[in-house]
Amino acid sequence: MIKVKNLHKSFGDNEVLTDITAEVDAQEVVCVIGPSGSGKSTFLRCLNRLEEITSGEVLIDEVNIADPKTNIDVVRQDVGMVFQHFNLFPHKSVLDNVMLAPMKLKRDSKEEIRSRCLTLLEKVGLADKADAYPSSLSGGQKQRVAIARALAMNPKVMLFDEPTSALDPELVEDVLAVMKDLANEGMTMVVVTHEMGFAKEVGDRVFFMDEGRMVEEGTPMEVFDETKHERTREFLSKIL
Ligand code: ADP
Ligand code: MG
Repeated sequence: MIKVKNLHKSFGDNEVLTDITAEVDAQEVVCVIGPSGSGKSTFLRCLNRLEEITSGEVLIDEVNIADPKTNIDVVRQDVGMVFQHFNLFPHKSVLDNVMLAPMKLKRDSKEEIRSRCLTLLEKVGLADKADAYPSSLSGGQKQRVAIARALAMNPKVMLFDEPTSALDPELVEDVLAVMKDLANEGMTMVVVTHEMGFAKEVGDRVFFMDEGRMVEEGTPMEVFDETKHERTREFLSKIL
């Protein structure tokens, strides 16, 4: 579903991603771990062209999104993204936040979109909050709305950038549970996270990044229990 070949990304003359080659299969859940500043967010943002790609290829379902001729709107429909900060529109209701993107697309009728988005709110456990405004929700509820909003475009891939890092600890589990459900339904997911429990339980594979490079990748067991690289071991010893 995702193929990254020799990806380089620079900001000015600062190269922050160096020669990354990686693949994510359809229905696979890949967790990306690594120290702060190692390029995890930039890597994720290159997968839906929130960042221009300096060189290399990023294929989503065989479409090279690095090609400037590729329609960015099509890329964004296929690749949903959930950020650490939820970026909901404060003056719109929960349901309107979720409906916004598909309404802009004008592909389906308003009634169809409304009914689909209500189903998504049900899925994330917030059907009763459809008419509420974001300010009345907890951080965990806001993040679940953000997940529903990303799903409203029927993406082929979902990207999560530290979706639980800004949440109070007691709200983290609800969000992880929604992500786990999504994984069990077969969604292809790339998740930047510090939740090692989630990575072990839900992740099919783990990528460890350091200084803009993909240092190590493997199953959670390989990366956590049979760690090959000293740098990975050092990182894990600090966080586990
Ligand atoms: P991580 O998500 O692993 O913490 P990032 O991808 O956010 O790492 O950042 C990797 C490096 O790229 C950092 O050195 C950061 O300062 C730099 N960087 C990220 N975004 C920008 C930007 N828009 N402009 C310039 N430098 C950036
Ligand atoms: Mg980051």
